[in-house]
Amino acid sequence: MPSSPPVTERETHPEAEPPHREAHEGTLGSRLNWLRAAVLGANDGIVSTAGLVVGVAGATDDRSALLTAGLAGLLAGSLSMAAGEYVSVSTQRDSEKAALAQERRELREQPEAELEELTELLEERGLTRAVAREAAVQLTERDALRAHARVELGIDPDDLTNPWHAAWASFLAFTAGALLPLLAIVLPPADRRLPVTVVSVLLALVCTGWSSARLGAAAPRRAILRNVCGGALAMGVTYGVGALLGAAGV
Ligand SMILES: [Zn+2]
Repeated sequence: MPSSPPVTERETHPEAEPPHREAHEGTLGSRLNWLRAAVLGANDGIVSTAGLVVGVAGATDDRSALLTAGLAGLLAGSLSMAAGEYVSVSTQRDSEKAALAQERRELREQPEAELEELTELLEERGLTRAVAREAAVQLTERDALRAHARVELGIDPDDLTNPWHAAWASFLAFTAGALLPLLAIVLPPADRRLPVTVVSVLLALVCTGWSSARLGAAAPRRAILRNVCGGALAMGVTYGVGALLGAAGV
């Protein structure tokens, strides 16, 4: 991985910035997607770190063991989320760029066939032949590549996701979530650390379940219930295993 700072698509193509892009539905939709991904990343951080530290707490009262396990879990989780996100967004962007390059080539080599293709795609969306033809001609005159990218490929050539942004966002979201169970297990006195952790984790899972449901326009109650049950199960299982190992003196 290169260590250069992230460069946004906007910086590399400043002239391509269309006016009033905030008003575009696609932009609002992609912002909500980002927000939802952040909430889900935080949720992962909460559940996996809570499972980890509660499991270790089942086996030992040692605060430094809990801190070590929690921090290692936080870093392992956030780095693996960031790396996974970097790889998947890079791959997606490579294939989008390849598709755009091919489109550019086709527009150069066979403009007539491309105009006909755009016309047919617009017809499929419900326009009459004559109107589709007129629209295709106008779109082609304004910016043929953008028209084909949007209508044919479903992507915005000026708004491809930056893999470094995606990786950082995942890293930060997971870390923000993971800090809650980590602090909840190491800060309180030993006899209160488990109840404090379990209660604060379940409350946080109510919040993330509610937020992700609202951002995805789904009914919140079931999402909250599923989320809280998932977290409770994770903590219950790891605590059980940790307690068994602790009791066996492993
Ligand atoms: Zn095309």
